[in-house]
Amino acid sequence: MTSRALDERETAARPIARRDTAPARAGYDVEAIRAQFPILARPVRGKPLAYLDNAATSQKPRAVIDAIRRYYEEDNANVHRGVHLLSERATRAQEAARVKVARFLGTDDPHEVIFVRGTTEAVNLVAQTFGRQRVGPGDEILVTCLEHHSNIVPWQLLCQEKGAALKVVPISDAGDLELDALDRLLGPRTRLLAVTQVSNALGTVTPIAEIIERAHARGVPVLVDGAQGAPHLGFDVGRAGADFYAFSGHKIYGPTGIGVLWGRRALLEEMPPWQGGGDMILSVSFEKTTFNALPYKFEAGTPHIAGAVGLGAALDWVGEVGLEAIAAHERAILDTAAAALAEVPELRIIGAPRERAGAISFLLGDVHPHDAGTILDRHGVAVRAGHHCAQPLLARLGLSATLRASFAAYSTPREIEQLVRALHAVREIFA
Ligand code: PMP
Repeated sequence: MTSRALDERETAARPIARRDTAPARAGYDVEAIRAQFPILARPVRGKPLAYLDNAATSQKPRAVIDAIRRYYEEDNANVHRGVHLLSERATRAQEAARVKVARFLGTDDPHEVIFVRGTTEAVNLVAQTFGRQRVGPGDEILVTCLEHHSNIVPWQLLCQEKGAALKVVPISDAGDLELDALDRLLGPRTRLLAVTQVSNALGTVTPIAEIIERAHARGVPVLVDGAQGAPHLGFDVGRAGADFYAFSGHKIYGPTGIGVLWGRRALLEEMPPWQGGGDMILSVSFEKTTFNALPYKFEAGTPHIAGAVGLGAALDWVGEVGLEAIAAHERAILDTAAAALAEVPELRIIGAPRERAGAISFLLGDVHPHDAGTILDRHGVAVRAGHHCAQPLLARLGLSATLRASFAAYSTPREIEQLVRALHAVREIFA
């Protein structure tokens, strides 16, 4: 391998090479998109892979894999503290990724973008800083019945610590939030509403702008869990008016171990730091520590620099294909899947929300989802079987597990046909 000379003028965060990108907007060429994801070409159990577990994690395009490899081959050093060229390059790469995240979220203030491990860590950060500062005995935190465990348990822990109460916005049988109940539950003691943009278990898209408006009308700040929303719908923090937005890199074609907490600057400024350590301080003595400015106040220790670079590359990739084009493709795939699944005898689709994105849950007769999932795997079909980290939601629907097929920019009707064929094979086994 030849190594290129380092050049201090060259930014480590140069745009990702165009050769890997699909012919954007000119028509959606899903096969050209698939060809950019090396893992999708790998047979599984001797069969072509039908990867329908995208709500758990997405696969990565070569542009992302290359960006991470290139970072380690050409730029790797620790950030912020170094006076040498590689450290400058690593710092520039990480900060360029922050700017890309800010742009993705429709804001021009990268200081509001905090790198974390993922959605889970983002929610915990807000609970442990904003929450600890603002919530006291008798106060209330409002979540919804649609939430993932990671947008429930951090609030439960906070409520236990503070003697506060966790309140829950109910859903209809169809899997939509009951907005009238939301209005009733938003009370004078409500300190925060934590709500998902898209349910990972049912695919329900919540009317997030309207929810935020209703909460703000009562003076209640809103944290939006964008783990499932970001990859399918994106989110404009300014337009939606949220106070906090969290998402995970690995669900939007980026690497694992990196995610984002976006917060409104005024709130972030007021919040105390969470973890202590290097980089989050301006000065330390044994008597007193002064904390760094945003966003570093919340980024203690060596960050996941390569992860940030990979996330930046993933957002570049999404931008080049076009989020709207991806969303339109996924809607068509979801419709195809819903229609095809409805034709499978004894198959029951769970929920019928007004709007769905990315995922569809179902049951096949009385076959346990784990059994069905294991057989589907033998046919090269990767789906999720279980409670999807949304046990309260499944309990509300009288269930303990479902099968879930979830989609991405590279999903094809062929994969849905493979899923349906494999479901027929499951039926034959259990007939
Ligand atoms: N919220 C939702 C809606 C999710 O789907 C997930 C991941 N399944 C999370 C939060 C947690 O994300 P992570 O595990 O990446 O922190």
